[in-house]
Amino acid sequence: MTIPAEHIEALRALADPKSIVPEDAAGTHLEEWRGRWPGESPLILAPSATEELSRLMAEAYRRGVPMVPQGGHTGLVGGGSAKGEVIISTKRMRQVRDVSAEGFTMTLEAGITLQEAQELARKDDRLFPLSIGAEGTANIGGVLSTNAGGVHVLRYGNARDLVLGIEAVLPDGRIWKGLNQLRKNNTGYDLKHLFIGGEGTIGIITAAVLKTYPRPKEHVTAMLALPSPEHAVKLLSLAQARSGGQLGSFEVMNDGMLELVLHQFPDLPRPLETKSGTYVLMEFSSGQEGTLRETAEGILETAFEEELVIDGTVASSEAQAEALWTIRHNASEAMKKDPSPCVKADVSVPIAAIPEFLAKADAKVLEMEPGARIISFGHMGDGNIHYDILGPAEGPHDKWKARMAEFEHKVHDIVVELGGSISAEHGIGQLKRDELVTRKDPVEMDLMRTIKRSLDPKGLMNPGKLLNP
Ligand SMILES: Cc1cc2nc3c(=O)[nH]c(=O)nc-3n(C[C@H](O)[C@H](O)[C@H](O)COP(=O)(O)OP(=O)(O)OC[C@H]3O[C@@H](n4cnc5c(N)ncnc54)[C@H](O)[C@@H]3O)c2cc1C
Repeated sequence: MTIPAEHIEALRALADPKSIVPEDAAGTHLEEWRGRWPGESPLILAPSATEELSRLMAEAYRRGVPMVPQGGHTGLVGGGSAKGEVIISTKRMRQVRDVSAEGFTMTLEAGITLQEAQELARKDDRLFPLSIGAEGTANIGGVLSTNAGGVHVLRYGNARDLVLGIEAVLPDGRIWKGLNQLRKNNTGYDLKHLFIGGEGTIGIITAAVLKTYPRPKEHVTAMLALPSPEHAVKLLSLAQARSGGQLGSFEVMNDGMLELVLHQFPDLPRPLETKSGTYVLMEFSSGQEGTLRETAEGILETAFEEELVIDGTVASSEAQAEALWTIRHNASEAMKKDPSPCVKADVSVPIAAIPEFLAKADAKVLEMEPGARIISFGHMGDGNIHYDILGPAEGPHDKWKARMAEFEHKVHDIVVELGGSISAEHGIGQLKRDELVTRKDPVEMDLMRTIKRSLDPKGLMNPGKLLNP
């Protein structure tokens, strides 16, 4: 794609000079986390205010210039990578517009990182519960546009559930001032949900009203070895039924994941002596001090009695809990360090169907390639499994690379057969765009295209992502 030079010059002339990202700082905007979709752009703009963004987008719209919105550029489906479009980064939109401890809300601009949002909430003894491995870099605009999930969805929901209102600039430059702070507002279509998870295809989110929660005072974190994924489903059900809503996270991982992380990060201590095919990392949290450990230990005692669990450790300090979480958080990094390219299937199925999914997918993958290394882990409490496949340990990996799409397709077949989704939390981007068409209800696809056309009739917002052009 080549944009005529006169259009680029017009946008340059309109922008505040500080909003033009110089060539020597373009790196992070063009390099994608896994190096899969190298970017290319004639101009990277990073306006610091909604009004400036609005002026720039109105001009781009008038001239027919395609745009790719970008937050922290940590997305895993190629949604923020440009192929010659103008990149619009929200990284300089960083104002804290309002924090209301009493109202349990924060109104933040899009370029504030997720970690900064969590810290802002903490200052007022509040919790902003969204938490993902990339939180130090991912931006509020990006996490909302991908409807990010993470490790606390079980209790607090995903990004979509944590938003009361948004402000967004439409493709033609109009500003939608939708910073609603109300918990109840039944006045027709709830349009913010088109932008949340919209992957930048119908406009750019510039600010949002986020919900905060009472900050938990106590945590109990445990790592457990289980005989099988079936036992993990039973344990999840037991913990939910008995904990009175205090189960915050329930993460599952196979032995492939644990061993890979321990291999790639040799300084991490092995959490359990007993080896098994299935491990669970679970965390309870409570706003009241005193009774949580008793509740959690009671649940674990029952789990041992019912032989749901073979071995386990309960963290006795924050540092120990942190060490257990580090294993989980290093999963993606461990795979990145492996020389083999990785099939990354971020899928969801009904929780009760997880064991069947894992059994069928493992059997299929190993039938297709006995040397494949299956790294399955994820947010079991949300029915979300990251089903990743590394090629045989011995390279070269050219043959493996050529077959990766075939493996992903087969895994998705099993997901769909079990009533699941081919994207649980990472979104569609470029990676799953073509497959989405074959998996989603045709009427739903048609509705999505209708919405896209009515808001972005020239097709300028993030072309080639999410929907086919
Ligand atoms: C190590 C690691 C761990 C991760 N763990 C998780 C996890 O547990 N759960 C999870 O859900 N994701 C996870 N991710 C994926 C990624 O971090 C999320 O998708 C995140 O929400 C992306 O935020 P970002 O600011 O980096 O967005 P970007 O990557 O910059 O953009 C993502 C998409 O949103 C669009 N976009 C960005 N900003 C805006 C805006 N202001 N308005 C409109 N559109 C916009 C882009 O065009 C693109 O399509 C992980 C990634 C990494 C690298």
